[in-house]
Amino acid sequence: MSTGQDYHRLFHRHVAQTSPNPLGLDIVKAEGCYLYDRDGKEYLDLIGGISVCNTGHRHPRVVAAIKDQADRYLHLLVYGELIQTPQVEYAALLAGQLPATLDSVYFTNSGAEATEGAMKLAKRITGRTEIVAFNRSYHGSTQGALSIMGDEYWRNAFRPLLPGIRHVEYNTPEALAAITDRTACVIAETVQAERGVFAPQAAWLRLLRQRCDETGALLVLDEIQTGFGRTGTLWAFQAYDVIPDILLLGKALGGGLPMGAFIAHRERMWALTGDPVLGHITTFGGHPLCCAAGRASMEVLLGSGWIDEVARKEALFRRLLIHPAIKTVRSRGLLIAVEYDSFGQNKRVIDACIAAGVLTDWYLFAPHCLRIAPPLSITETQIEKACAIILSSSDFFP
Ligand code: PLP
Repeated sequence: MSTGQDYHRLFHRHVAQTSPNPLGLDIVKAEGCYLYDRDGKEYLDLIGGISVCNTGHRHPRVVAAIKDQADRYLHLLVYGELIQTPQVEYAALLAGQLPATLDSVYFTNSGAEATEGAMKLAKRITGRTEIVAFNRSYHGSTQGALSIMGDEYWRNAFRPLLPGIRHVEYNTPEALAAITDRTACVIAETVQAERGVFAPQAAWLRLLRQRCDETGALLVLDEIQTGFGRTGTLWAFQAYDVIPDILLLGKALGGGLPMGAFIAHRERMWALTGDPVLGHITTFGGHPLCCAAGRASMEVLLGSGWIDEVARKEALFRRLLIHPAIKTVRSRGLLIAVEYDSFGQNKRVIDACIAAGVLTDWYLFAPHCLRIAPPLSITETQIEKACAIILSSSDFFP
């Protein structure tokens, strides 16, 4: 049995690192809105595994569904060949919660793979190759998804990337003009999360839909981060009265297990079945354990009333997060960015929060903004506690 010290050493020695300074907390258990480290210290989780744990960590019904499925079967065969009850039941449940034009679910391993699948599907359906994407958007880290990522700093080191990508500014009229009859699809986050929570104007999103219809381009909405009640409606697009041609899901989709999906109308999805057959292949996509967990989590969410409470909890955060060091708070439901002057300031607040038992971090394209995206089950008392710690952590700055 290794000691805590050993785990730290082995983590740095053998687990591939993504940054020189990982948080490196040694978490041994998670439950509801809390993580617990090896020394028994508890952390109130304000980021929910980055918008994954919408129903909290290890909801008993999710754990029970995983155990039940583990007693039946694990992996059987590559995606798409066999009737696997957890897949069928979850796809049907999702379709029942979506507009009729989004009735065919292709399950993937991750959000990035869902993005890849959607780009391929759009090319097959339209016979076109150009893709319009937005500055400061994030859709995944594989090479196709990276090609449409909206930031040159992260893209540049990995060139050459996909050709035919046009990056335009979100929520602007110029973006609409970039969509032409050569555009296969436009890929947009319904609310730009990693920009530090930037919601579009409803009129603009409707014009985007209209421009896609005029040109025959498909509209792909990425709800990998905004789905499953995060912004106060089950899907963020419901608040805008805009329906995408292809919907991307991930993160909370698997109830804490890894899964993504791209969803379209069945007739359109059919394009992946011929010329070439097996237009998208995945071994583990839609794994039965992930589908069982995801379905249980979705049922918990739908039966919980938590989505109806999002607006009230958002308002409480906004009411409490007032401090001279906080420049502004942007939010869409329980996806909240607390803006400081600089990354340096934000990082000091984050470190102080973690030391005081509140787990938070920053946004990829807005490192000066503190991330709040807790389990939707967070209570008002927990929100008050979290905000008190954020405010006292902000006292560094007059
Ligand atoms: N799209 C959005 C909006 C995301 O926030 C993310 C992940 O953060 C992805 C796509 C990629 O998902 P994954 O990390 O599962 O590949």
